Amino acid sequence: MIETPTEKENREIARQYKELLRISYQTLTEDDKKLIRRAFDTAVDAHKDQRRKSGEPYVFHPIAVAKIVASEIGLDATCIAAALLHDVVEDTHYTLEDIDEQFGPTVARIVDGLTKISYLNNDKDISLQAENFRKMLLTLNDDVRVIIIKIADRLHNMQTMDSMRSDKQEKIASETLYIYAPLAHRIGLYNIKSELEDLGLKYTEPEVYYDILTRMRESKEEQDAYIRDFAKILEESLDKENINYEIKGRPKSIYSIRRKMKNQNVSFDEVYDKFAVRIIYKSDRANEKFLAWKIYSIVTDHFRPNPTRLRDWISSPKSTGYEALHITVMGLKGRWVEVQIRSERMNEIAEKGYAAHYKYKQGNQEDGLEEWVNKLQEALENPEINAVDFVEQFKLNLYSKEIFVFTPQGDIKSLPKGATPLDFAFSIHTEVGLHTRGARVNGKLVPLNHNLKSGDQVEIITSEKAKPNSNWLEYANTARARAKIKSSLKEEKKAIAEEGKTVLARKLRAQKIPFNEKTVNELVSFFKLRTSLDLFYRVGSGTIDNQKLKEFAASRSNALMSFFKSKIRRTPKLEDIHKEEITTKYDLLVFGKDEEVLDYKLAHCCNPIPGDSVFGFVTVSEGIKVHKKDCPNAIQLQSNFAYRIIQAKWKDSSQEEFKAVIRLEGIDNLGLVNEVTREISNNMIVNIQNINFDSTHGVFTGRITVIVKNNTILNKLVEHLKQINGIDKVTRE
Ligand code: MN
Repeated sequence: MIETPTEKENREIARQYKELLRISYQTLTEDDKKLIRRAFDTAVDAHKDQRRKSGEPYVFHPIAVAKIVASEIGLDATCIAAALLHDVVEDTHYTLEDIDEQFGPTVARIVDGLTKISYLNNDKDISLQAENFRKMLLTLNDDVRVIIIKIADRLHNMQTMDSMRSDKQEKIASETLYIYAPLAHRIGLYNIKSELEDLGLKYTEPEVYYDILTRMRESKEEQDAYIRDFAKILEESLDKENINYEIKGRPKSIYSIRRKMKNQNVSFDEVYDKFAVRIIYKSDRANEKFLAWKIYSIVTDHFRPNPTRLRDWISSPKSTGYEALHITVMGLKGRWVEVQIRSERMNEIAEKGYAAHYKYKQGNQEDGLEEWVNKLQEALENPEINAVDFVEQFKLNLYSKEIFVFTPQGDIKSLPKGATPLDFAFSIHTEVGLHTRGARVNGKLVPLNHNLKSGDQVEIITSEKAKPNSNWLEYANTARARAKIKSSLKEEKKAIAEEGKTVLARKLRAQKIPFNEKTVNELVSFFKLRTSLDLFYRVGSGTIDNQKLKEFAASRSNALMSFFKSKIRRTPKLEDIHKEEITTKYDLLVFGKDEEVLDYKLAHCCNPIPGDSVFGFVTVSEGIKVHKKDCPNAIQLQSNFAYRIIQAKWKDSSQEEFKAVIRLEGIDNLGLVNEVTREISNNMIVNIQNINFDSTHGVFTGRITVIVKNNTILNKLVEHLKQINGIDKVTRE
């Protein structure tokens, strides 16, 4: 009998159905099977006239998604049914009401959620994409199953993208890397996350992907042999203890190797942990933890562990439920090897994520779901964070590795990568943070924005008088430290304002001006401020001084006078006279520590004039805008965009000094540096701006940036330096 193509496809569909039931991770009841059967038939019917780009019947796609949901993720019949139906409402004449009627409200709600995501997905730019992502989570997080099935859907789409247009491939792949892979990680679907990342790389950077893939294949034999030798050493000791275990080598994903190559700037061969060794042991619940540490002890009997790379996720599991003991040991041939120790139960949780977790909880599945949804919700509902930040933070949390540093007492503290001594100080105690004066790392004084590394020993020097200033916001990276600094700055502002209020009342009295709401309002508008708090703060901090208050008083009487005199003669305003005088004195605006002359515009909100204390703000499209330091927008700009602030200063160009760089070479001897610096700063009228000494193998080199008024002084300096004992050569750059 000859089979028609349709018959062949129908036979394949039937086979797929049987396989779907067979590979289900959850045990299916008869009712479950009936539900899946009905969903299956509906999907087959609904999609019967549709084909995928590759030419195969469309229904193969929802079936494949259902298989991922059933087997790899291990969800229940409701989810399997929803997965089968996930494209039905979007693509066919079936409506949500049909689904509700035939499969009940739960399946309908999940399908509805999935349909909505598809509509959301037509994003245009990154922020919209992030916003959509957030919306998608917020609107749908009443049922996290929607997100899980969406991830399965995305996985299958990524697996079958070959016949798609390449620009579309790239767009979908980047979206996968940006949104779905981190999401899968968050949910604890580690295998799916890795697969999504590898596929993402395959379509965004194909050359890189295939290059690493080939190299991994080439080195596989050598690696297997290494793992066998490594395992052999452990097996004897483990057997002696009657432990029931299995040792496996686990290659790291292409994507994670790529990330290491990039982050550490190394070649493929230089990535030392291209695989991990997994020891999976049998145990009852009561002995699980004990056995893990017993195995740890055996492993470290043979191989020296790296103390900074011990992760105990048994005592405190990850929020995804992940449990395991990870250690990195010095293995054979001087290579670091990561060893993951897990019981069979822990391994299943690691593989299946959430599904295994609630299976082992033995309780009500719905309870487990709810607990988990709540956790996600907490993270999502924080209104402080806008969408892009949210995704960024999300990615940050997932990808930035922690660092481990030590207190002077040898206690270990974990901090996010990129943390500074200031972050460390606040992680010890708020009081320590707030009174930080300086820090020593491994015994050496470092600036507060120094980047800490794992293994650093950090000591915070405190002082009663030290307190946060706005620069600290640039130095601190952890949310905790930043929040504490911000609130302390706010407190301080309030306290200064309180003081300023009293001062203002007194000063106004001296000028015979009543201190009342009306005057305060006049002052606020005279100084172009926003609130009375801003006003009091400026009086308290001295930005609004006697002189300025006198101007105000004058303008007030001027206003009265001009009311009477307006018909006679217009007198130049005091403000204008003042402006004139200053403008002639300060004629040059310079930026940054190096006092560079750059293009700029004056901001309209505060209209700074020469002589005002000002700062530059680097705008996105209009270059540098110059604001007054007491501009109403200043504090907001400084606290939100500290990194875009650039120092600015008015100068009198007739008094201009210039900068010169001097290079020194010589023989390193004790006290040479001292002598050089003394020569420069003591003997002559020269300012040192920057100084850099280096000595390798007894050879001394120095680079000094000095500020001088003219050439004569500079030449004299060079002559003096040449006479110092040990100095060979002095040159100007
Ligand atoms: Mn789909």
